[in-house]
Amino acid sequence: RQVRNQISAGEVVKRPASVVKELIENSIDAGADKISVEITEGGREKIMVRDNGIGIPSDKIEEAFERYTTSKIREIDDIHSLETLGFRGEALASIASVSRLKIKSRYQSEKKGTIIKFAGGEKKERKTAGLPVGTEIEVRDLFFNTPARFKHLKKSATEAKQVSRRITAEALAYPEINFSYENDGSERMKTPGDGNLKSVIFHLFGEEIYSELIKVNSSSKILELSGFIAGPKVTRSSRRYEFFFINRRPAINGNLRKGVESGYSEYLNKGKYPLVFLNISINPILTDFNVHPNKKKIKFSRGQEIREIIAGEIEEALKNYEG
Ligand code: ADP
Ligand code: MG
Repeated sequence: RQVRNQISAGEVVKRPASVVKELIENSIDAGADKISVEITEGGREKIMVRDNGIGIPSDKIEEAFERYTTSKIREIDDIHSLETLGFRGEALASIASVSRLKIKSRYQSEKKGTIIKFAGGEKKERKTAGLPVGTEIEVRDLFFNTPARFKHLKKSATEAKQVSRRITAEALAYPEINFSYENDGSERMKTPGDGNLKSVIFHLFGEEIYSELIKVNSSSKILELSGFIAGPKVTRSSRRYEFFFINRRPAINGNLRKGVESGYSEYLNKGKYPLVFLNISINPILTDFNVHPNKKKIKFSRGQEIREIIAGEIEEALKNYEG
C-alpha cells in the first residue's frame, strides 16, 4: 500500500511548492481565515502549514491519510465540479508516504486535540494534547525514502521561490484570509485578511504598484471579469506578475495571457509584461482543470472567444485611464 501511495505521490507531490499548495487548499476548504506557512531550506527540510479551520475529528484523522478518502464528496454532490476542484482524497496519503509527517489537529466541537506522527506513511505515534481548534501539518525530509525523486529537488533558493509564488497566488485569490509566510525563520509575507484585493496587492507588492492600479469589473455572456491591472507605467520583464484566478483558483491559461497582452499591446515594448490580478468567473462546464496534474494550467472550450473578450476589456480599461 505504501508503494502505491508513493507512486501516486509522484503525481500530486513534485516539490515543496506542491505540498504547500495541497495543504493550503485543505486549510481553505476547512474554512480557515488564518493560514501560516513556514519552510526551512526551501521546504527540503521542513514545510509547516497551520490553520484555524474546523479541524479533523479525532477518530477521523487516520482515515484522512488513507488514499481516496475525502470528506468533501458528501458536501458536493456533483462529481464533475468535485473533480474540477481536485477533491480526490490523495494529497495527505501521498505526502505522508514520502516524508516524515506530524499532524496536530483539534476539531471544533472537541475539547482536546490529537497529534499523530507518520514516517513514510506508517503511523509511529499517537497522543492526545491540548491544542487550539484547527490543524497544523509539518512535513519533514521530503522524499527521504524515494531517492530518485529527492535527486530532482532543486537548490533551496529555487524551491523557496516556487513556494513563495504559490503562497502569493493563494493570498491574492483569497483576500479574506490572513496569510503569513516565514522562510528560514524570517517573515516574508503577511496579508491583512480584510477581504480587499487591493490591500493584498499593497502588502505583497508595495506602493509603486498599488498607486497605479486600475479597477476592472465587467460581465459578458460567458464570463465575469474583476480585479485590478497596473497602468502601463509599471511593467516587468517576465510574465510572473500576470495573475489569473479562475473561479477563485490560481490558474495559468494561454487564452487569458494572450488576451491581456494584446489589450496592452499599444503600450508595451517588446520583452515587457504587464501586472494584472484578474478574477474570471465562468461556468465550470467551459473549463478543464485536469490538463495538468498540478491543476495550474487549465483549458477552456471557446478559448478564442474568451481571449477576445479579455483583450477588449483590458483595452477599454487602459483607454479610460489617464496615466
Ligand atoms: P481531499 O482534499 O481531496 O479531500 P486530502 O488528502 O487533501 O483529500 O485530505 C483528506 C481529508 O482530510 C479531507 O477530505 C479533509 O476531510 C481532511 N483534511 C485535510 N486537511 C485538513 C485541514 N487542514 N483541516 C480540516 N480537515 C482537513
Ligand atoms: Mg486536499
